[in-house]
Amino acid sequence: MASILINRACPQCGGIAIDEDYYKIGERYIYCYCCGYHYIREQLYYDNKENRVHYKEEECLGFGIFRLINKNGTSTIYPLESPITDELIAVYKGKLENNEVNREKCYLISYCDGVFTTLFGDVPEKYRIHYEEYKKKGYPDIVNL
Ligand SMILES: [Zn+2]
Repeated sequence: MASILINRACPQCGGIAIDEDYYKIGERYIYCYCCGYHYIREQLYYDNKENRVHYKEEECLGFGIFRLINKNGTSTIYPLESPITDELIAVYKGKLENNEVNREKCYLISYCDGVFTTLFGDVPEKYRIHYEEYKKKGYPDIVNL
């Protein structure tokens, strides 16, 4: 499927985000690696009478990121879709209690009112800076990783 995949500044926090544009079918996905913001536009159905496609649009504000990294190098990003709570922190901490998990590398960062707060772990610098700075520092494009 034809698509354009680029890096961009997150519309919410300004950090590095991925923008995937399936321009031929009008679908688009934006995901931020820093604050968890995401935007999705997908085809819902095709209306024969109107001869056009109807889309579903969803924008989800980011409240932070939990990144789980396994010893085998695979990682999963969990965007926080609501403000961080003690309960959520406990849930994410619970996920570290697994032998497959590389605990030192996992982290939880919250985002609220424009402020990032690290709750545990070390967040790599590239996910804590503005996209302009990210480019200036010469970090590789995430899409190529
Ligand atoms: Zn963001």
